[in-house]
Amino acid sequence: MTDRTSISQRAIAVAPSATLAITNKAAQLRAEGKPVIGFGAGEPDFPTPAAIVEAAVVAARNPSSHRYSPAAGLPALRDAVATKTMRDSSYDVRPDQVVITNGGKQAVYLACQVLLDPGDEVLLPAPYWVTYPEAVALAGGVTVPIMTDESTNFTVTVEQLDAAVTDRTKMLIFVSPSNPTGAVYTKEQIADVAGWAAARGIWVMTDEIYEHLVYGDAVFHSMPTVAPEIADRCVVVNGVAKTYAMTGWRVGWLIGPIEAAKGATRIQSHLSSNVNNIAQAAALEAVTGSLDAAHEMRLAFDRRRRTMVSMLQSIDGVTCQDPQGAFYAFPNLTGLLGRPLRGKVADTTLDLAAILLDEVNVAIVPGEAFGAPGYARLSFALADDDLVEGLGRIVDLVASR
Ligand code: PMP
Repeated sequence: MTDRTSISQRAIAVAPSATLAITNKAAQLRAEGKPVIGFGAGEPDFPTPAAIVEAAVVAARNPSSHRYSPAAGLPALRDAVATKTMRDSSYDVRPDQVVITNGGKQAVYLACQVLLDPGDEVLLPAPYWVTYPEAVALAGGVTVPIMTDESTNFTVTVEQLDAAVTDRTKMLIFVSPSNPTGAVYTKEQIADVAGWAAARGIWVMTDEIYEHLVYGDAVFHSMPTVAPEIADRCVVVNGVAKTYAMTGWRVGWLIGPIEAAKGATRIQSHLSSNVNNIAQAAALEAVTGSLDAAHEMRLAFDRRRRTMVSMLQSIDGVTCQDPQGAFYAFPNLTGLLGRPLRGKVADTTLDLAAILLDEVNVAIVPGEAFGAPGYARLSFALADDDLVEGLGRIVDLVASR
């Protein structure tokens, strides 16, 4: 019999976003007057470039923005995303393969809704972004995490995929550059993974939201360009949030085979109708305009990245690989566990994050949130002074014992 006393099991099973929770906690403590430095947020600290904001102002004054618009997105924006995808990824797609969504996050959700039936297994290299397993679960899918570590620079190997695949495997989730590890797969690695999936008819959802944020020798490659054989089983997720400092505008998109795009549009038509027209106008300006502002921001992130990694590496008990993309460092903190820190002992990185917040007002996201206890994610998308101050507090805390 139906249990009328409780909300649905599906809703009960969803874990709240750990990264948003840390960001909110830091904001709350700050509002209480505590000098909190937050390494939690996955968002640029820059304002959205002025020309993009201006396009939104113009759109807000245009009465056609005040009405419903097509569920799959404004035709001009779908066209522009197809053109932009050719420009940045050399991937030739038609506008009717593009569906505009409320952020990349909704594109992830829709991709899972469109591709998964209950019980379908999804291969998910770990450490993983917190939203993926929840989006899989909401579609009735079963996440099969595959642990990676420093020995492969946090990239998954074909041998690991072979060991995890079953006859229920429907999809692989792939992200490069990666949140949370900053790993960037080489062209050869992408070809291997895509070839492996294509040979087995397994779908790939490839998340390219950090495409413009790569550092040093790392180069971004789009999976369906490197391996065209995967294109008819591939859904690309992308958006304007990270490249153009537009996290609050909520515009992303998915690109897939036509049936997948149509399925996503049908679901979206009942879920949210269209994405806010004013935000879509802003996104249109972003994807058709120059990448100069994005390149400027990338230079700042790169500078902060180098400062962060060297400060983390200077701490006894911490090791940290160079993140090659995105804006996160993912240090191994196991050397700090089980030893006194101002009289307190952290047995897990969850404990450690709590101690850092209590003792030195520094917010980090413990690795547990990403399926990787022993590590933590620190965003370097914050002002240089704050970054140095916050890391300095961790250095001092560990030195003081
Ligand atoms: N994919 C990845 C890997 C991300 O890190 C994020 C943001 N944290 C997103 C997608 C979604 O971004 P948004 O919904 O803001 O477009």
